[in-house]
Amino acid sequence: MDHFRYLDHRLHCEQVPLDQIAASVGTPFYCYSQATLERHFDVFHNAFAGVEHLICYSVKANSSLAVLDTLARRGSGFDIVSGGELERVRRVGCPGSRVVFSGVGKSSAEIQAALEHEVLMFNVESQGELMRINALAGRMGLKAPIALRINPDVDPATHPYISTGLKRNKFGIPHTQAAELYRLAAGLEHVRPIGLDCHIGSQLTTLEPFVDALKRVKRLLVELRREGIPIRYLDLGGGLGIPYDSQQIPPHPERYAEALLHELQGLEVVLILEPGRVIVGNAGVLVARVEYVKQGEEKRFIITDAGMNDLIRPALYDAHHAILPVTRRFDREEILADVVGPICESADFLARDRMIPEFLAGELLAVRSAGAYGFTMSSNYNSRPRAAEVMVRQDRFAVVRPRETIQQLLEHEILFS
Ligand SMILES: *Cc1c(COP(=O)(O)O)cnc(C)c1O
Repeated sequence: MDHFRYLDHRLHCEQVPLDQIAASVGTPFYCYSQATLERHFDVFHNAFAGVEHLICYSVKANSSLAVLDTLARRGSGFDIVSGGELERVRRVGCPGSRVVFSGVGKSSAEIQAALEHEVLMFNVESQGELMRINALAGRMGLKAPIALRINPDVDPATHPYISTGLKRNKFGIPHTQAAELYRLAAGLEHVRPIGLDCHIGSQLTTLEPFVDALKRVKRLLVELRREGIPIRYLDLGGGLGIPYDSQQIPPHPERYAEALLHELQGLEVVLILEPGRVIVGNAGVLVARVEYVKQGEEKRFIITDAGMNDLIRPALYDAHHAILPVTRRFDREEILADVVGPICESADFLARDRMIPEFLAGELLAVRSAGAYGFTMSSNYNSRPRAAEVMVRQDRFAVVRPRETIQQLLEHEILFS
């Protein structure tokens, strides 16, 4: 459930009409509903109320400080994948004890910064990384808490670019090599194996892959404990999908929790979960203005002022995002069209060959489900300043990141002489 709906034919975010925000901040802009963020976090958190657990929201889904702050106040921890994300969670006052650090390519500087901030654990993805953490922690006179990220070789049945738990993916340690590497870790002086981690992919729409992966890592966990390696934290990653259209409705977080908890019965662990998309995806929209409507020989193009630099998911994953008029009119016909941006690439589309309401030049449209992997993946391609970000709470809105200016884009560049 989210807080975007029509009132008097005007699309609102909570109690604020989106056209009012557009008049004040211009377009394109991302708009987030704080009530939706809080609701999604609470639903997910409460679904696991029966067991000791920590929700570590995956920062890469949407790393805006206002979003992180909203979730931190709700009690969320964070899953980070870079030194930049570490700095972001520090800025919202999150203690290291609620931070896990994931990623295949952690640099020495990033590892040091995370050791200084005393993160809860490093989710280690290779033997090389394990040895590097051991060496760096040794130099600082510390013992680094670690988990190994296991690649369970389970097919998440999602887009190949967001599948991470298959043998052919770069992520994690093959489950067949994991026990051996744990034994090695247990013998190192400056690491302390305390957890076991696994994240198999994103936008999963069924529960089976989660359960299959859990079965594999559970077997490993029991084996490790039998060998005297005291694994306390079980991190099951993120990946639960959201409904982008009415075709594929993923399971509700409560069903997801039930399935996992059923499999975990009798196992004493502190559960860690790293949801990203399911918390923020439907808490945000991208609002754009139609610049032109062009009739090609074969189809109609709705040309907007938002492009693939603002929202790359359609171009990158062929992702579906619902397109809504910000002002509802009953004389609107449904037409077959492409909704495209101003970028010089044929992959620059927000919707392709889609039946959508007819739009006129100058009208506003909202791209739904744009809260996750929207702004965070945006770029300055075509020297376009990145969009503004706005957050709404009830009848109030505020710009939480102003639109970039062209001046800002150019200010760090230096001519070669
Ligand atoms: C991206 C990512 C997540 C979040 O995935 P969602 O599909 O957004 O829930 C969690 N953990 C890790 C390690 C990730 O890379």
